[in-house]
Amino acid sequence: HAAAGDAPLHDPGSGPPVAALVGQGLPVPCLDGVRRPYADLDAAASTSALPAVAERVADVLPWYSSVHRGAGHKSQLATAAYERARADILAFAGRDPDRDTAILCRNTTEAVNHLAHRLRLDPADVVVSTAVEHHANLLPWARVATRRFVECGLEGTFDLAAVVAALDARPAARLLAVTGASNITGWLPPVGAMIAEAHARGVPVLVDGAQRAPHLPLPPEADFVAFSGHKMYAPYGAGALIGPRDAFADGEPFLAGGGAVEFVSLDEVIWTSPPEREEAGSPNVLGALALGTAAAELPALGWDRIAAHDRALAQRLRGGLAAIGGVRLLGPGLEVATLPIATFLIEGVPHALAAARLSAEFGVGVRHGCFCAHPYLQRLLGLDAAGTRRFRDAAVDRDRRGRPGAVRASAGIATTIQDVDRLLEGVAAVASGPP
Ligand code: PLP
Repeated sequence: HAAAGDAPLHDPGSGPPVAALVGQGLPVPCLDGVRRPYADLDAAASTSALPAVAERVADVLPWYSSVHRGAGHKSQLATAAYERARADILAFAGRDPDRDTAILCRNTTEAVNHLAHRLRLDPADVVVSTAVEHHANLLPWARVATRRFVECGLEGTFDLAAVVAALDARPAARLLAVTGASNITGWLPPVGAMIAEAHARGVPVLVDGAQRAPHLPLPPEADFVAFSGHKMYAPYGAGALIGPRDAFADGEPFLAGGGAVEFVSLDEVIWTSPPEREEAGSPNVLGALALGTAAAELPALGWDRIAAHDRALAQRLRGGLAAIGGVRLLGPGLEVATLPIATFLIEGVPHALAAARLSAEFGVGVRHGCFCAHPYLQRLLGLDAAGTRRFRDAAVDRDRRGRPGAVRASAGIATTIQDVDRLLEGVAAVASGPP
């Protein structure tokens, strides 16, 4: 870890952000009576919509209609648009439309639960996962299988050898379930190499793409990928589970109901083919069209531009925080490239108070708490599973219920260097004492 004052403020070259988002920078009231443009440093939680996404939703409102079943003109338009969105979402994930399918669902959490149900594992079957996961990729597997974890150290990373050891342990794994990027540290596990090692052993892989999708292409060689629209510049309520169509072609679908069937009698059901087989009930047509638009727009902005922007923001954000006295950045050192996400503690300032002051005094929106990845945060704080200290220097900031927590700042395509600088100014003020 870089000690306070260690790290110079990098000059990232202050290029413009990659895109503007709807509602970006709207003024918010601060305690001193000044309204400041909102500096949204909570992109890892949810993002505002791309203008093209908002336009698409407004455009669709007058004519959205039931898909797949209606003969009317609006239904035909809606069906064509829904299937176009599915194709765009599949293309976004780099998949082969002849082999793969995109099951449209609510979000990553639902997608992983869906897959956990669909793989029909035996409770003794082993799913290899990691200590870095969000709860969405931890808890569904706890219900259906036996889990074997790749551990991480205090820096919140693991190396490929640890993954290989977990894959080689017996009994053999039925699945490797790993995140494409951490929602706490922005660390990027070596997913390409992990997939290659898993495939060399005949083990299929699920990548939780929730954090990766807005920043980097998803690995097309992963067997299954899950992601959420609200983290990639579309509104809530639409996400995708992507995988080979064959994986969903037989057995009971996740949900039973209308739309998933070929024919039903009172004592029998003939299920239809995927993806409809896995989408019982009336789907979120508007959400799917919004997600489809984001899926087409995001790569069109240019992954290289997004990566360069992310690099500049990550350097300014993490380097800037590490340089402030009394701030402890969690996770890998500054030499490790991450997404523009930084989670930190401010010595002597509870995380909830720090986040509240950043909002009330500076108009900066961050998140604080345990970020739905309790095991990972415990490790980053140097705590063991029971919440006791593993390391002497573990500085733990607990809430009233005794749970540890920290502050997280995260950026996306619309974040400016000025937003990051306002955060750094706020954190420096909070770290230097009460107002
Ligand atoms: N996985 C990761 C890495 C996440 O960051 C999140 C959300 O924070 C999720 C899964 C869950 O996403 P959702 O709440 O959209 O289901």
